[in-house]
Amino acid sequence: MRVKGDKPANTRPGFGRALARGMTRKCARCGSGNLFRYYMLMAENCPQCGLQFERLEGYWLGAVALNLIAVESLFVIVLIAMVTATWPNVPWTLILIVLVSMNVIVPLIVYPFSRTVWVAIERYLSGTAVTETRNQSDKTRSDLRGSAN
Ligand SMILES: [Zn+2]
Repeated sequence: MRVKGDKPANTRPGFGRALARGMTRKCARCGSGNLFRYYMLMAENCPQCGLQFERLEGYWLGAVALNLIAVESLFVIVLIAMVTATWPNVPWTLILIVLVSMNVIVPLIVYPFSRTVWVAIERYLSGTAVTETRNQSDKTRSDLRGSAN
């Protein structure tokens, strides 16, 4: 019997809900927060439902790609906005300073969000993996290592 406010650990949320949880740095499966010890240091497993985040070697490459897409999209938007707003006397040096600074700072801000969003996307696209427990995840790793040899 569930008590009001309890979150079922093994139900699969819809993609929108999982993505919304990822965008707020929460677990895609159960919606629990506290996944980060510091701003950047992510726990290996969800403290509430035990979901193991990094399932395979190179797993976070998707998060890096999401981070890059977010940063460079913002880069293009800010560049177009600044050029459009100041045309024809475009302050290229100022734009260069702003954009280079942005490309250093924004990836650090976006980093934890890109990880939790990536978990949501990857777990949803991989189907049943969102309900996977740590033992099943370890089995997936050993199966993949075995098939690689
Ligand atoms: Zn969780």
